[in-house]
Amino acid sequence: MKPHMSVSQYKRWQQCPAKEYARQTGQYIDVPGPALHGGIYVDLRLLGGDAQGYAESNDMLTKSGALNRTSYGWCEAAIDRVKNSEQAMAMLAGESHVKLDFEFAGVQWIGEIDCLPEGLPEYFVDLKTCKDFLPVWKEVDGKRRPLPFYEAWDYWVQMAVYWYAVEKNKDPLILAVTKHKERPGLKALDFADYDRLERELERVEQNMPLIQLYKSGIEVAPGCGSLECDWCRGESLEIERAESLF
Ligand SMILES: [Zn+2]
Repeated sequence: MKPHMSVSQYKRWQQCPAKEYARQTGQYIDVPGPALHGGIYVDLRLLGGDAQGYAESNDMLTKSGALNRTSYGWCEAAIDRVKNSEQAMAMLAGESHVKLDFEFAGVQWIGEIDCLPEGLPEYFVDLKTCKDFLPVWKEVDGKRRPLPFYEAWDYWVQMAVYWYAVEKNKDPLILAVTKHKERPGLKALDFADYDRLERELERVEQNMPLIQLYKSGIEVAPGCGSLECDWCRGESLEIERAESLF
């Protein structure tokens, strides 16, 4: 078990406790796909780091040493899109990859802030690569409805926890670029809604005791049962009465 908590780990416990328990005990192995690799590569290129080494060790290059265009053709377009925007570059000029280590909700957290911009001392910035900026259909209280992409991907909780980590004296800002090979979109999203950020923090505090019980094995971590969950899909034999529609 990982001794610390992180935002991504927290989100995984919320999505499917059984899957996260299996992950942490080595029964479920994550295989990161091109979406994750591409995002990390773009981050390293824009914020500094060994992007070339990362690409080499993750099988992202063709024999000639260029990025594989089929999977990663969008990466150069995203990098150019950000670099060609003076405003976006100002948001990324500053201290990058700032490590966080803090206590919250009774547990120790680790995290990383992408950038603390020099020219915007009142903000911290997280760089994201997104499929697009279209609303995402998701089930909310039993009803499918379109959500803004940042709600659907739960960006608020990450922004709230990092906002807490910087002692609530810098506002969260997401710089998002889309994964289009041609004319990618670029958006800066300001998350300075303090009521919402506080509500997110309260939710984390409420959920943490149960996560700790699952993590320690005192409570059996239940499956989420979602049809979209690859862990739950492989675990049970469901007996279901066929519905007659015609
Ligand atoms: Zn599940």
